[in-house]
Amino acid sequence: MELLKKRILEEGKVSGEEILRVDSFLNHQMDIGLFQEIGREFHRRFSGKQVTKILTIEASGIGIAAIAALYFQVPVLFAKKTQSRNLDKETYKSSVYSFTKQTTYEIQVSKAYLGPEDHVLILDDFLANGQAVLGLMDIVRQAGATVEGVGIVIEKGFQDGGEKIRRQNVQLESLAVVDRFKDGKIRFLDAVRQ
Ligand code: 5GP
Repeated sequence: MELLKKRILEEGKVSGEEILRVDSFLNHQMDIGLFQEIGREFHRRFSGKQVTKILTIEASGIGIAAIAALYFQVPVLFAKKTQSRNLDKETYKSSVYSFTKQTTYEIQVSKAYLGPEDHVLILDDFLANGQAVLGLMDIVRQAGATVEGVGIVIEKGFQDGGEKIRRQNVQLESLAVVDRFKDGKIRFLDAVRQ
């Protein structure tokens, strides 16, 4: 997605060897005009799928999922990372190792909002080692629901999350795939792959 790649090149900041920061339009301040284009593009790429629900993970996935849901006209469900007394007692749970925080945390989704009748599109901001998406896929399977696809805004092609998900025969659509950062520079992989 050219518009997204342009913004990444203009505003993305490389942190160390593996982290890309895009706080100015995605992870802190949110550019809703860009989110609209992202939502439209996910809708175009998954147009053949019958999606009944979008599933994401708090916090950064929520904004993207909410705008995308306007195109799919389905509810957004987000997995919670924190224990809360407000959450229903009956939940699906999965463990996720956080690449950025280097800790394991539990994600939970109330059983009230996901069931065997659901066809789920999983959306998230970044794909690194795939732990967040695999945790969400685990929850969909526990519910007896179907994963229709996985949509990612930025995939880091040098980490193995993409490979792990594609290996499970799930349609994975990443709107920008970045290559290993060399001298703090950002390059995209998808031009090479397609
Ligand atoms: P994974 O579970 O695929 O290893 O990591 C994906 C999650 O970690 C995403 O939900 C995202 O929040 C965070 N993440 C991983 N790599 C990056 C990165 O380079 N930049 C940012 N901003 N977040 C990242």
